[in-house]
Amino acid sequence: MSDNHVEQVIIIGSGPAGYTAALYAARADLSPLLFTGNEIGGQVAITYEVENYPGFPDGLTGPELVEKFQKQAEKFGARIQYDWVNEVDFSQHPFVVRTANGGEHRAESVIVSTGATHRKLDVPGEKEYTGFGVSYCGTCDGFFFRGKEVIVVGGGDSALEEGIFLTKFAAKVTVVHRREELRASKILQDRAFANPKIEYKWNTVVERINAAGGDGNGTPPKVVSATLRNLKTGEVEDFRTDGVFIFVGHTPNSQLFQGQLAIDEAGYVQTDRRYHASVPGVFAAGEIQDPVFRQVITSAGQGAAAAMQVEKFLGELKAHGYHHAAVEHGLAV
Ligand SMILES: Cc1cc2nc3c(=O)[nH]c(=O)nc-3n(C[C@H](O)[C@H](O)[C@H](O)COP(=O)(O)OP(=O)(O)OC[C@H]3O[C@@H](n4cnc5c(N)ncnc54)[C@H](O)[C@@H]3O)c2cc1C
Repeated sequence: MSDNHVEQVIIIGSGPAGYTAALYAARADLSPLLFTGNEIGGQVAITYEVENYPGFPDGLTGPELVEKFQKQAEKFGARIQYDWVNEVDFSQHPFVVRTANGGEHRAESVIVSTGATHRKLDVPGEKEYTGFGVSYCGTCDGFFFRGKEVIVVGGGDSALEEGIFLTKFAAKVTVVHRREELRASKILQDRAFANPKIEYKWNTVVERINAAGGDGNGTPPKVVSATLRNLKTGEVEDFRTDGVFIFVGHTPNSQLFQGQLAIDEAGYVQTDRRYHASVPGVFAAGEIQDPVFRQVITSAGQGAAAAMQVEKFLGELKAHGYHHAAVEHGLAV
């Protein structure tokens, strides 16, 4: 530890939850220290268009929104560090937070807002051809598929949102979904069904992703097809495609907190209704603890609420000590 300085609040993660927590904590004069992680701005940073964040009737891009979040938090004194947290110790108070750059920080309170990451299909070819036709981000890679044919795997909001976006570039988008019905919201389904470039393969899974090239003679591999299996008929086909975009859900980024916080079977950090995690003084907000709503506005709202709780916790801590504050804030989970 470089000195005895103890932060009032450390925020882990720079998605909508983290930045909003930083804004609220900064405006409460807590001088928050936020670690961004590798995905600066979080998932929304890779989203082409955000149309459902209030206050922006014409919509805006994900990167634009994230930049505004950061600017607003910094304006009130939030300190943003481009670093990855690789260890926490919540068994002692003040808590200890260690980062990839070798930093060791102590804090009276912590807000966990490490969000979630894309779930994989775990089929042959997926890992090998990521970046060579396999993608988890239409916004990032759609441009490379102008006039091409692509598959979108999944049936939720992300799959349809990205599928619709991909029709701006691709000649044809085939949605491959393991069930007979989509999980996506009605408005997205209506838009997707009305889009003449989108076709569907129901009750179907991807078994393998196939590529040509990449045989060591200097040519990079290039996805050429996907092996699909119809779960109802058992029929297997080699489906020609130039790209496979995978949107089959998210896994909460909670590995860091194993053994430190209560985590449910699905990997979500458990909190009570006021965003207390299982250790008094540790709070969690956004998709790291929310398997249900998973939106920018809900994650941001949870970040704001967690920061307000931190303010309350720190007030009690200063006035009466950790034990009292812990009792007041220890009824989590
Ligand atoms: C393709 C796509 C399109 C979407 N479109 C919309 C939309 O139009 N409207 C909408 O409302 N929502 C949309 N969403 C959902 C929205 O992006 C998420 O609900 C929101 O980003 C969740 O915010 P979060 O802060 O909880 O977590 P995340 O956005 O997941 O951010 C997590 C943060 O934690 C950081 N982190 C993780 N581990 C560590 C660590 N060990 N140390 C430090 N930092 C760490 C990451 O770097 C990242 O900054 C979309 C999502 C996707 C994937």
